[in-house]
Amino acid sequence: MNQQQIKQLLDIDRHHIWHPYASVSDPLPSYLVESAQGVRLKLADGRELIDGMASWWCMIHGYNHPVMNRALKAQIDRMSHLMFGGLTHEPAIALTRQLLQITPAPLQQVFFSDSGSVAVEVAIKMAIQYWHTQQQPEKKRMLSIRRGYHGDTFGAMSVCDPVTGMHTLFSSMLAEQIFVDAPGCAFDELPKESDLKPIRSALESHHREVAALILEPIVQGAGGMRFYSPGWLKEVRSLCDEFNVLLILDEIATGFGRTGKLFACEHAGITPDIMCIGKALTGGYMTLAATLTTEAVSRGICDAAPGVLMHGPTFMANPLACSAALASIDLLLHSQWQKRVSNIEKILLETLAPARMFPHIESVRVLGAIGVIEAKTSVRMQEITQAFVEKGVWLRPFGKLVYIMPPFIIEEEDLQYLAETMLKIVQDPQLFESE
Ligand SMILES: *Cc1c(COP(=O)(O)O)cnc(C)c1O
Repeated sequence: MNQQQIKQLLDIDRHHIWHPYASVSDPLPSYLVESAQGVRLKLADGRELIDGMASWWCMIHGYNHPVMNRALKAQIDRMSHLMFGGLTHEPAIALTRQLLQITPAPLQQVFFSDSGSVAVEVAIKMAIQYWHTQQQPEKKRMLSIRRGYHGDTFGAMSVCDPVTGMHTLFSSMLAEQIFVDAPGCAFDELPKESDLKPIRSALESHHREVAALILEPIVQGAGGMRFYSPGWLKEVRSLCDEFNVLLILDEIATGFGRTGKLFACEHAGITPDIMCIGKALTGGYMTLAATLTTEAVSRGICDAAPGVLMHGPTFMANPLACSAALASIDLLLHSQWQKRVSNIEKILLETLAPARMFPHIESVRVLGAIGVIEAKTSVRMQEITQAFVEKGVWLRPFGKLVYIMPPFIIEEEDLQYLAETMLKIVQDPQLFESE
């Protein structure tokens, strides 16, 4: 593409298209991507960027993967879409069978939807409907932990961190949920009594009105990229049982190997009552999410009036998306993903660690295929992005966080380059706000 064509396209983009959390009157620049292959994004102007974001946790097998492409092409020639009311299809059934095998055993029913936020809405509805049919309709509030992120729709917003959750503007219109502080114990620490006290007291005071506790297991993503102790999660599972509160695990970001386990709840050896998955579910090829639950919850919902789960998206269990998910999970299970993820972890740990010495850096943390450098002040978004692009790297920092979660298939050499570039760029205090 020549400069003139690129400019024309970017002008339309700039003036007429909303990007995530962006302005259309004074937008930050967007880079025009022409194609992508493996871990490389090819820009329209011919430059190449190594992708450190996996397009927000999704592209675990990288871009333009031949096996994924074949699966989708084959499904297109059979059917691309089909209403799910009264009709069903093999891709949905095969995917469900596969999901039941790889997710915690008590999860037996699957509700498909088209995005993570909707999967969270459905989880909340399931929990409320469950207690309604159990003759405890007063149990309809959600308990959550601060620093969480669960999506951008209204129900999901109501359980995101009330301050950092990017939704304060809407707070007066959101269901009022109950929040406790996020656990302070790090991944490799055991929870102290003081770490459990807030959640225990919240349950003691509110269990009669709480339908479910919802949280991201082990890794809190967009709310702050924090990692916490599996021991804490294990204790919290027991507390939920003790106080008759359902546990919803939002594995939308953590699922499919990212934290070193197939699902992050495996670090704690616990199982949820309801689990949300999305993002890497289709290897990033199609938009698809799912909410899984146990026989006890699904029976509870369906055995009393209204007798059905009150939700049904138009694009529910889209066959193309289900085929992509099936192919992606198959690829993942047949790859040496555990070895790959632990190798990514090792390289990120070694390479990013020196950033701890930089005076403007607060901390460095790595878990599985996730590396985070947290600064003391916010990044200068446009400047730091430009600095990365000039080095041929795609990273998308936010707030005080510069973080990386590459596709699992990344070669050691590319990963090394990504991580070294990250280290080099964050060394420059000019790329961060002064206060
Ligand atoms: C991204 C995300 C969501 C929302 O998913 P969308 O597909 O963007 O609606 C929900 N929960 C977590 C943990 C996420 O990371």
